[in-house]
Amino acid sequence: MADTTTLPNEPSSDTLSAWDRTHQLHPWTAMDAWQENDYHPIESAEGIYLWDAEGKRYIDGPGGMWCVQIGYGRREMAQAIADQVLRLPYTSPWTTTTDPSTMLAKKIADLAPGDLNNVFFTTGGSTAVDTALRTMHFMNNALGRREKKIVIAREKGYHGSTYLAASVTGKERDKSRFDLEKRLVRFLPDINPYVRPEGMSLSDWADAKVADLENMIIEVGAENVGAFIAEPILCSGGVIIPPEGYHKRTLEICRRHDILYISDEVVTAFGRLGHWFASEDVFGITPDIITCAKGLTSGYLPLGACIISDRVMERMTGPEEKVLFSNGYTYSGHPVCCVAALKNIEIMENEGILEHVRQIAPHFQKRLRALDRFGIVGDIRGMGLLACIEGRPDTPGTSLAAERNVGALLDAACDKRGLLVRPLINMAVFSPPLIITKAQIDEMFDILEEALEEVQEQMAATGTPD
Ligand code: PLP
Repeated sequence: MADTTTLPNEPSSDTLSAWDRTHQLHPWTAMDAWQENDYHPIESAEGIYLWDAEGKRYIDGPGGMWCVQIGYGRREMAQAIADQVLRLPYTSPWTTTTDPSTMLAKKIADLAPGDLNNVFFTTGGSTAVDTALRTMHFMNNALGRREKKIVIAREKGYHGSTYLAASVTGKERDKSRFDLEKRLVRFLPDINPYVRPEGMSLSDWADAKVADLENMIIEVGAENVGAFIAEPILCSGGVIIPPEGYHKRTLEICRRHDILYISDEVVTAFGRLGHWFASEDVFGITPDIITCAKGLTSGYLPLGACIISDRVMERMTGPEEKVLFSNGYTYSGHPVCCVAALKNIEIMENEGILEHVRQIAPHFQKRLRALDRFGIVGDIRGMGLLACIEGRPDTPGTSLAAERNVGALLDAACDKRGLLVRPLINMAVFSPPLIITKAQIDEMFDILEEALEEVQEQMAATGTPD
């Protein structure tokens, strides 16, 4: 290693790609191709569009990573961030507080449902989930219930990448070489209505899925179960929408057994479904804890929050409790990130972005459903500005490998035409910026239709039956 290095002022794009391959380990890197993966270099963005190094324009189908609610290039956001950097870039949340973090805590408490009035700031979604689970540990230790710690989670649920959050994640567990805290968690089977047995009604499926939770509690013993963690919609698992009534019934079960209900709203909060939070406004439940991140700042800066109900706080505190809530991050309540969140919420309020989502979502969902005319499409799912296209598992004439590849094929076909989607094995998901207009929704779905046409032809030409 050299003592100093001088980087060229304007490295060529080839040099930058080489450095990226050699020195940057990206999230979820395919390790068989480590140092061979080429990541798409993006240079700038405006509204719902991104531009790459060659100047090619793309619609940002995934809205960054489910997060760019207000769109790119907001000057007022840049100004608010710059002003706060100059005024006060940082101060320790251990010993001091700041106006932005205090005002944001109050704002979130006002927007959150019921008695969820207590905000712990984190660095993102995973650390919000970690904080929620540690809060459950803390509360049960305070109550002398040292065994009541097991978390019930769900297959296909995604909760993050720190040790605890990854441990309660039910996705792709077998493909990882990372260790997980298996003693802490039990998983309920897939709740996707699409995988229910043929002929089973949706209401019977809901009964079965609710029974899965009850049976698991009986098996483990309610005295050992501390929390149920659930995304209102399982987003990274493929935009899986639980059957009607599921949320309310599972919450009632948790209440009956004194099990904390943690609603992981890292994707669904801040407008994705046309509301600040989906738990109460969309699904009619008031959880004990809500975790959020992503859309809180529209991705302009990293920030998450764990919002804890008064009921839980009361059980963690008391005159004789001299212990510390020893959980926290150097950047908890970071004033610049909190200013970004406040500005983001202000923009959403001033521009009526929640109302816009509620108004535009039916058109988005109508265009989405129309894609089921393609033979290679097995299921179409979505709500608000969330969508997933899942390939059909038994497309005649194609191989299993080709079917598994539908996400990647669709991604390539869309990419060519200036649309980014997020491929997930045999699925493609998208969640565009919330400011998307009707004309832009049409532009996006016109591209998707052409791309599906191409993939269908490709699969028919190259697929071989297994
Ligand atoms: N929870 C949910 C529901 C998520 O979708 C994600 C990220 O996609 C996380 C938690 C983790 O958030 P982060 O990547 O900000 O740590």
